[in-house]
Amino acid sequence: MAQRILRSIVLALVFTVLAPLGLSAQEIKLRVLSTTDIHTHLYDYDYYRDGPDDSFGLARTATLIKKARAEAANLLLVDSGDLIQGNPLGDWVARESGFKDGSTHPAHKAMAALGYDAATLGNHEFNYGLAFLETVLKGTKIPYVTSNVFLGTDKATAKPLIQPFVVLDREFTDSAGAKQKVKVGVIGFVPPQIMTWDKANLEGKAFTIDIVEAAKRYVPEMKAAGADIVIAAVHSGLSAAPAQGMDENAANFLARVPGIDAILAGHAHRVFPDRSFANLSGADVDKGTINGVPTVMAGFWGSHLGVVDMTLKKSAKGWERADGTGSAWPIRRRENNQWVSLAAPDPEILALVKTEHEATLGYVRRPVAKTTDPITSYFALVQDDPSIQVVTRAQTDYVRSQLKDTPHARLPILSAGAPFKAGGRGGPNYFTDVPAGDIAIKNVADLYLYPNTVRAVRVTGATVREWLEMSAGQFNRIDPAVTAPQPLVNTAFPTYNFDVIDGVTYKIDVSQPPRYDTQGKLQNANSRRIVDLHFEGKPIDEAKEFIIATNNYRASGGGNFPGLDGKNVVFESPETSQEMLMEWLIQKKTIQASVTPNWSFARIAAPVEVIFETSPAAQAYAKGNPKLQYLDTAQNGFARFRLDLK
Ligand code: MN
Ligand code: MG
Repeated sequence: MAQRILRSIVLALVFTVLAPLGLSAQEIKLRVLSTTDIHTHLYDYDYYRDGPDDSFGLARTATLIKKARAEAANLLLVDSGDLIQGNPLGDWVARESGFKDGSTHPAHKAMAALGYDAATLGNHEFNYGLAFLETVLKGTKIPYVTSNVFLGTDKATAKPLIQPFVVLDREFTDSAGAKQKVKVGVIGFVPPQIMTWDKANLEGKAFTIDIVEAAKRYVPEMKAAGADIVIAAVHSGLSAAPAQGMDENAANFLARVPGIDAILAGHAHRVFPDRSFANLSGADVDKGTINGVPTVMAGFWGSHLGVVDMTLKKSAKGWERADGTGSAWPIRRRENNQWVSLAAPDPEILALVKTEHEATLGYVRRPVAKTTDPITSYFALVQDDPSIQVVTRAQTDYVRSQLKDTPHARLPILSAGAPFKAGGRGGPNYFTDVPAGDIAIKNVADLYLYPNTVRAVRVTGATVREWLEMSAGQFNRIDPAVTAPQPLVNTAFPTYNFDVIDGVTYKIDVSQPPRYDTQGKLQNANSRRIVDLHFEGKPIDEAKEFIIATNNYRASGGGNFPGLDGKNVVFESPETSQEMLMEWLIQKKTIQASVTPNWSFARIAAPVEVIFETSPAAQAYAKGNPKLQYLDTAQNGFARFRLDLK
């Protein structure tokens, strides 16, 4: 009792003495919301598939934004970039809509309605060129900041491309209900690599500097301009490796720059805080901090909303961050093996950009190219196949153009692709089937299902061989001594791991046991299924180096392929594989999808009966092929075929 009275007296004294000095113990709770990498996913609609998708869309994130705003007395909303490019809606705005001075980008219409306070540029903001970007920025009142891109080429005299930072005058309500004036600085950053990724748009016109260097240059200027707190909107990911200078992923390095109070990261399309970053140096994934600085990364395409909650206290210098946490709110959650939506699309946002959405539907349904023959995946597991070949050809052309002026340009380019839609658990209708004739943008998802990006790896001929050996695990061993029917396909091996490599020729000898198990472990060290592996008509030189065009999944170790762990990546595309394929089709105008086979099965002379399953619709495409014989359609809906291996 006596203690409690004493404490009351002390508290009363503290307030009596400090309040007149403006140093009351009052605090301000400030919430900062972050979106990033929206990539023009405003609607929850997949234009490549021409259907709705509840896994993304700013319209859905908007519902979380409104909820988060309703809970907070004091709030700022900031976007960390990659806003205006990334799906056909962005392309339609840039190329088809007649966008000009006076136009407002649909993304900015939505953001204005949501009350964004500031935004930074992402690398993809440069994809349509500087003139278009300038027009886009004229169309919004949201202050844009980016501190590490400069116009011109002369470092001594160059001016920033846009304002490096902004200091916002805000009036917040403190814990006693009193109004307090706080100056909030927001500074922006983009990966310096835009000079490479958008060389054609930027070379000779602009240059970039290191993200941390820009922070060290401008944060003191922000403080001098009166910023009480500084928020870093950084279109950059979190790096496990130490800083090397000009780092692409440098957001966590900003946690060591004095004066930065919150980090709103992006670019890497990952989520922070999240268990996957538990081992990142300085990260507290429970509290959502890095070196004590509240940090968020809000996924991509509106999948998450980043939420930083800070407590500001007043010191002699002004308001400062006393504490802070970060969290990432998802728009959907996995429950009992099913996705459960946590955010319905916001009708206000849908209505605001409905016109642009509908125009985009017209755009994706319009033919952009032609195929002279059908593109199907019905026989992708038993013979060389047009559905894979279209992708591998596009990858080869793309990687060749991207590596043109690099030290890798002299190496031959091979290209790996796998059938993504080839029956299996997807059922007897789960196949690619694009008829001869027009191809529209909405067909692209039929040809490339996953939201991957293109990667190129540099490997030796020996790795090419092992890569194919791993792929060949797709097949059961066919015993030449057995005359009873033998199923060819190992259904436990996912078809997206059956990589065909174009640019070499080879045969697969399924009378041998698989060299690797599905986990990539050497299972039968003496077994070789890949035979007659040739490059330019001669046995491959195992010491010779090659570039292989593939995707981010494979290049970073997906599928446990021997020799692939992300270390031999020499190129990472900024655009998705679907975008790459779409651009290729538009350029080609007419493609001939039928292929000269570059792989086949090695002959088995014994009278084996080899069976595989595909769609009943495959029958029409087996006509005239003496190796394929339709048997029957089973209870499970799959058609059974006999494959002649003689
Ligand atoms: Mn992005
Ligand atoms: Mg081929």
